Amino acid sequence: MGERHNGIVEVTGSSPVRSTKRTIKLIVLFYYQQKEKKMIATQIKLSSPDELSIKWDDGYISIISLRKLRDNCPCAGCQGETVLLKTYKPEQQQYLPGRYTLTNIQQVGHYAIQISWADGHSTGIYTWEILRNL
Ligand SMILES: [Zn+2]
Repeated sequence: MGERHNGIVEVTGSSPVRSTKRTIKLIVLFYYQQKEKKMIATQIKLSSPDELSIKWDDGYISIISLRKLRDNCPCAGCQGETVLLKTYKPEQQQYLPGRYTLTNIQQVGHYAIQISWADGHSTGIYTWEILRNL
């Protein structure tokens, strides 16, 4: 393998002809940075009584209905979890009044938000990745 600088790789090798050595230069553009780029939410607000609007650092705006948000709650109680190779099924979902009413959004570190709902449920931590993929 050759050296890598500024996203350009120079690969040196020998040609199939044994006696003639030559340098093969390959220019490869790297898209890794783009691939690994982590999205960050820069603004989160209720755009309507039942929709959350999330603005991302790449300019994209997600509009997510609160219903979808709640039904995709990532907490262990809603999604189930696997602990020590044993898979626990989600708890029986209770549809209490206020299930789709958002009462609070709290930021968790730099990577997620924790959402509280009017039915008292607040264990769901939505990472940027989860939100961006909803
Ligand atoms: Zn949940």
